[in-house]
Amino acid sequence: MGKHSAVKRCKWLYEALVNNRVCYKQKFYGIKSHQCIQMSPSLFYCTQQCLFCWRAQNGDLQITWNELKLPEWDFPEEIVQGSLKAQDRILSGYKGNLQTSLQKFKEALTPRHIAISLTGEPTLYEPLGELLHAFHKRGFTTFLVSNGTMPNKLAALSEEPTQLYVSVCAPNEDVFKLVCRPQIPDAWTKLNETLGLIQSFRCPTVIRMSLVKERNMSSVEGYAKLVEKANPTYIEAKAYMHIGFSTLRLGFEAMPAHKEVFDFAKRLAELTGYRIIDEAPESRVVLLSKREKPKRLTAPQS
Ligand code: SF4
Ligand code: SF4
Repeated sequence: MGKHSAVKRCKWLYEALVNNRVCYKQKFYGIKSHQCIQMSPSLFYCTQQCLFCWRAQNGDLQITWNELKLPEWDFPEEIVQGSLKAQDRILSGYKGNLQTSLQKFKEALTPRHIAISLTGEPTLYEPLGELLHAFHKRGFTTFLVSNGTMPNKLAALSEEPTQLYVSVCAPNEDVFKLVCRPQIPDAWTKLNETLGLIQSFRCPTVIRMSLVKERNMSSVEGYAKLVEKANPTYIEAKAYMHIGFSTLRLGFEAMPAHKEVFDFAKRLAELTGYRIIDEAPESRVVLLSKREKPKRLTAPQS
């Protein structure tokens, strides 16, 4: 929608409506998969070219563009309206599916949660704080997922998300360069600056690790040091998924099994003092925290 944003139907929206299954973020944090809009305000733009990324990157399929040449931005209000309209289109037709839960379908027509996570680096969108505000004032909860390479933008956010995610997908700079393939100078230093900022956020914070077999799963000690620096509320250790354009860069065997992710998380727990508090084997993800239980986030009902 607009010049640089997108909404995509999440697989879990479908699963929740049709098969009564929910995503791990509903399991962990209580947001409802069938009332969630998965979107990005920076579809084509990112400061990294991660090997495991499912988005099309410059050069894939011989299509090239400058991922750092930012466009003239659409206004936050246009993006909010566009997101709601796109989600309406996504939902049309489900009522005709005999397997759809009609109760959930009705609820889905009033989405309550925004996952700013689809693709691209959202901190490149200049009025990001205003976009978060525009969603919050309508009663939405928000997850913001950033790769952490723009610490100044995160520090200057005029409004915090409901929960902030920062991706940490390498234990050291060498692996970072190979796996996350930064497109801007000093990206590792900037990511480390972001980790230093995490404790200044009032919202719950998450360090997200996308784990790729034989690429970034060694040196758990390196990850532990980064966790120590950030002291986030949660850590989500999650397997790379062999989907989308990542299949051009990595083989199926690069996906670790759930047990491998769990073993990684166990070692990380031993090194950091975080505890494993939940897991979702179907998504190959393990949740760690110093809290006993994750904070449940439920949007106010209208
Ligand atoms: S939180 Fe993420 S996985 Fe869950 S429904 Fe929303 S976009 Fe999908
Ligand atoms: S930071 Fe996110 S959007 Fe950018 S290349 Fe990596 S996975 Fe893809």
